[in-house]
Amino acid sequence: MSQEQTRTIDDLPDVIRRRVVAVESGCWEWTGGKSSKGYGRANVAGKLEHPHRLSARHFGILTNESLMVCHACDNPPCCNPAHLFQCTRSENMKDAARKGRLDLGHRSQIKAMWNKLDGPTLARRAATESLRQIADSFGCNHKVISRALNAYLDSITPSKQGAPQ
Ligand SMILES: [Zn+2]
Repeated sequence: MSQEQTRTIDDLPDVIRRRVVAVESGCWEWTGGKSSKGYGRANVAGKLEHPHRLSARHFGILTNESLMVCHACDNPPCCNPAHLFQCTRSENMKDAARKGRLDLGHRSQIKAMWNKLDGPTLARRAATESLRQIADSFGCNHKVISRALNAYLDSITPSKQGAPQ
């Protein structure tokens, strides 16, 4: 019998338990304040903490404070320890890219990626590879590739309008 099966919402730390509810999907969702990305925010003794991180620490999943706590369920407010795993920032980025949810609104990330993408090369590769294959080789979301490619195509096709910002 694994430990996960015996864990219930009542096993959560007192400081967050009252604001977490179990939902049909099996997630334990934080109902308190959230960040713009949907991660929970709890004020614990004057310190802002992520409830999923508190949960992961409490259940022994988070053992290295320099690492991130990621969601296997892809549900940011979820605090169910069975859905949480410890990972590095780059593992998290790869996980996000694989799930197709790298935040396209994240300007610095886009900009850094953008600088590595060169239009003519992209266009040449797009003739024989899928956008996903190209995206995988850059370790980014295929939407980033799609935007870069479209921006390049727009730049060489004056009749087309609406280049991305
Ligand atoms: Zn979950």
